[in-house]
Amino acid sequence: MARYTQDSIERLRESVDTVAIVSRRTDLRRVGSRYVGLCPFHEERTPSFSLDAERGLYHCFGCGKGGDTIEFVMETEGLPFPEAVEQLAQDAGIELERDREDPREEERRRHRERLLALLDRTAGFYANYLWGAAEARRARDYLASRGLSEEVLRTFRVGYAPKAWDRVLMGAQRDGFKPDELLAAGLARRGRGGGIYDWFRERITFPLADSRGRVLGFGARAMREDQGAKYVNTPEGELYHKGRLLFGMDRARGAVAKSGRVVVVEGYTDVLALHQAGVEDSVAIMGTAFTGEQLGELARTAGEQGTVFLALDADRAGRDAMLRAARMAEERNVGLRVVQMPEGTDPAELVTDGGPEAIVSLLTKALSVVEFEVERVLDAADLDTPEGRDRALAEARDLIAATPQRSARRDHLVGKVADRLDIAPHFVTAVGGSAGTPSVPSAPEAPKPQAPRAAAPRPGTPGAASLGAERVFLALCLAAGPLGREHLARLVPDHFSSSLTRRARDYLTDHFHDPLAGLPSGDAQLDEMVAGIALEADNDPPKGDDSLRMSFLALELKRIERDLRRAREAGDFTEQGRLALAKRQVFDEMSSVMGQAT
Ligand SMILES: [Zn+2]
Repeated sequence: MARYTQDSIERLRESVDTVAIVSRRTDLRRVGSRYVGLCPFHEERTPSFSLDAERGLYHCFGCGKGGDTIEFVMETEGLPFPEAVEQLAQDAGIELERDREDPREEERRRHRERLLALLDRTAGFYANYLWGAAEARRARDYLASRGLSEEVLRTFRVGYAPKAWDRVLMGAQRDGFKPDELLAAGLARRGRGGGIYDWFRERITFPLADSRGRVLGFGARAMREDQGAKYVNTPEGELYHKGRLLFGMDRARGAVAKSGRVVVVEGYTDVLALHQAGVEDSVAIMGTAFTGEQLGELARTAGEQGTVFLALDADRAGRDAMLRAARMAEERNVGLRVVQMPEGTDPAELVTDGGPEAIVSLLTKALSVVEFEVERVLDAADLDTPEGRDRALAEARDLIAATPQRSARRDHLVGKVADRLDIAPHFVTAVGGSAGTPSVPSAPEAPKPQAPRAAAPRPGTPGAASLGAERVFLALCLAAGPLGREHLARLVPDHFSSSLTRRARDYLTDHFHDPLAGLPSGDAQLDEMVAGIALEADNDPPKGDDSLRMSFLALELKRIERDLRRAREAGDFTEQGRLALAKRQVFDEMSSVMGQAT
């Protein structure tokens, strides 16, 4: 059932500027009476897409897609016919005639249109108020202090809601709107006494528009500390649903379609700052809620080869939102990458200080979903215990197992995990499921006594092995007397793969002659490790200077290998050369120690 008359749709077809509409998706070049360009529907290097501007028809000789302007909009924006028509009509400023409709349907539509008009009028009122009113001065100062220009603020119709209780209410009623309409649009609320008053007061207002630019609600920022919530939104209602909107989508749409990229941030001012810096393919979610509906719209707009970049805060809520989005993207087969924002920095500060290059450089370093999850596992891992390391290894291994074999990305991930857990890369790629000993055989264990000590290292696991070398060295130092003390002092923090062994070194340096006397130190993990080391140092027969030297060289070798992996990753050839030489020297020293030993 057509909602618009055939006549008015024909008129629309004739009057829209097809070249302008197609140019939002691909660069066109005029050739005679036609335009040609790279096809927006398939990947190609030489143009096979052709447009007949006069008749408003396009055709691609590569993939065979073709049609008129309305079909082009349906195809590229993922819109059904009626909405593609509405969008084209709105852009071209053409009034469509409707077929006769059901009177109740018509009434609902008129009601909606009135609410939209009311919201639009109010956006205009707030915007004027921001620039004209004396009481909005602090708001203007605040926005300026965030580096936002008047131009970008006006483009996004940022405004200010007055302190008074009834400015919007009175003004809208004067223009013929009824109190019920103000309530339905979320612009007023009913007080306990039954009277109604303005919903937004004394706040900076950001109009929240749908992708066609129709204002559906507002986000509003408090100007005072004691004003309740810092951000207040229009309540969920007839028009406004926060899970559907993306702030800035109406402004970003064209840029996103063209670049095939969309940057998703958390704050309204982040979007403003990014647009101001020329990164126009950016939008914001409301708070940290990111829904499948929003992701779907972004993916449709960015196109089949498009990528959604999430640049959310590095805090817990932001990370959880990214993880949820990542899972949704995987299910829907949407290209998604996670931008690692420097802790405590938002995108607005980033571009204000570093220009658009600052964000672009972060985009090029954005992580895949698997990389992001592996990062998370490593960040959350307890590197101070063998169990913590083994658990992190098992989780990382499962994640990596899902990536394609023999890819550069996989090698990179394996290197990263090996580096952080301080284990050999083959432990990371070894098949064998959960934590345990993929290749190191261990003696059959006797039945466990009840309640085994949780922190007792399980021998033979990669996690135990990496911590073990450091622990053994500390015990040797303690047993060796003055020479041991000297070796202890030679260690730098980089020799340790965990903060616990690092703390143990510091403690032992301070309490070298009687380590147990200083216990408990207030750090239970440290106490346990020091006690264990002291016990080993006492029980083991003295091993001589050579064992101590070899043990030190082993740590030195590990340190160099860690640095070497990092230098390789960074492509720093000078550093690689220097480290290769250092490694040689350690080998030479090792063989000279072994040569002396009989
Ligand atoms: Zn094509």
